[in-house]
Amino acid sequence: MDGRKAALGAIESRRDRLGGLADRVWGFAEAGFEERRSAAALGEALEAEGFELSWGSGGIGTAFAASWGSGGPVVALLGEYDALPGLSQAAAACEKAELAPGANGHGCGHNLLGVGSLGAAIAAKEFLRASGLPGTVRYYGCPGEERGSGKTFMVRAGAFEGVDLALTWHPGDLNCVLQARTLANLSAYFRFSGRAAHAAASPHLGRSALDAVELMNVGTNFLREHVIPEARIHYAVTDPGGRAPNVVQDRAESFYFCRAPRVAQAREIYERLGDVARGAALMTGTSCEIRFSEGLSDYLPSRTLGALLQRCLEEAGPPAFGAAERELASRFRATLSEAEIAASLAQARLFLGAEAAKRLASAPLAELVGPLFAGDACLPGSTDVGDVSQVVPTGQLICACAALGTAPHTWQFTAQAASPIGRAGMLAAARALALACAEAFLDPGIAVQAKAELLERRGGAYACPIPDEVGPAMPGAGQRTESERSRDR
Ligand SMILES: [Zn+2]
Repeated sequence: MDGRKAALGAIESRRDRLGGLADRVWGFAEAGFEERRSAAALGEALEAEGFELSWGSGGIGTAFAASWGSGGPVVALLGEYDALPGLSQAAAACEKAELAPGANGHGCGHNLLGVGSLGAAIAAKEFLRASGLPGTVRYYGCPGEERGSGKTFMVRAGAFEGVDLALTWHPGDLNCVLQARTLANLSAYFRFSGRAAHAAASPHLGRSALDAVELMNVGTNFLREHVIPEARIHYAVTDPGGRAPNVVQDRAESFYFCRAPRVAQAREIYERLGDVARGAALMTGTSCEIRFSEGLSDYLPSRTLGALLQRCLEEAGPPAFGAAERELASRFRATLSEAEIAASLAQARLFLGAEAAKRLASAPLAELVGPLFAGDACLPGSTDVGDVSQVVPTGQLICACAALGTAPHTWQFTAQAASPIGRAGMLAAARALALACAEAFLDPGIAVQAKAELLERRGGAYACPIPDEVGPAMPGAGQRTESERSRDR
């Protein structure tokens, strides 16, 4: 039997089961490193298909790998399944409707991401079975993308050793290969300790930690002029030291993100940020404790795999949207501002070209596959797929799972991640990824070429951006509360 036909048939025959699984994970809506039910549901589905599972890579209980086949090439599919705090929203509802106040929601569509890659893994297994070719397909259950740097810890633990290439995708509002880099990101908590005192009676006896937080922020804002313009530094005050103005604050804390196009650049700025913090402590007579939080390398897209994914996405075709999906998308589009739609079209112009963007301008949904982006762009966000891409050649797709103009991390995205629009986008991604796996098994030269390209473009050995002594920040064990966690990468 034709292996490629078997692969696509495997997705088609399981479409309801895959859709149901994506809806279940959406319903669980578990945040990073808390994805017990989500990971269990995905693991069980793969076990039922004959995959062999191993749990807990990188010291994270909700991480797993599921393998099928033997010999090489070893093709990895990356799946995510964590939700975001505060984005609870009713499924497919076109107006803001929280299911539970303040609860989590799948505002980045990782329920679709995890199951779409899972569908491709099952299809790749069916390809290997039908073709009789050697090869191993391995699904990586990757927790904690939104917070936690899950894949960075998995990479550090050697979970991807022996993998020849990795493929993944992300839900969005376009259909294209992601050929852009992302920003590296290092984050840390800066905790200042001083001495409390009565702010009117004896301020001279106090040493204000809140003053130190303020001075560090001021210092950082002066630092901005003297770092590369592509860098992004942002902060939140995670502990103002209390609510009473008449007490000199003896503790205060801020949380910083430090981003740059390359991890080495982010590291350099991060070190200078430490000097600013130490300077603020010196000025205020306080002390500063720096607690490293997360580290994400920049994403290095494989051009070899980008070209492969482009061919496969064109062959598999865009999501099969019908009249019902178009009508639903129009209703979501009505909730978006002109600026949001313009931002999306600007991205379409950059990645897909002017011609495709023009065709999308009045469409509620992206029903075309854009041409391959040949430029060098950097998206102003960060992801732990970056660390995988630094050690294994990695290719990534975007498939439309929401009305054009829908930004991730919004209630509109959460709603559409549990709608027929999201499910159609997920199946399109599964089909394209499955065909790419089949090509990689048919032609082992693709992995060889991709590996050579990675070694040439990476420039030096990979160094994990997280210090050795820092482990995964498990919820409950750490100091952060849900509201303190970053919402937007
Ligand atoms: Zn995401």
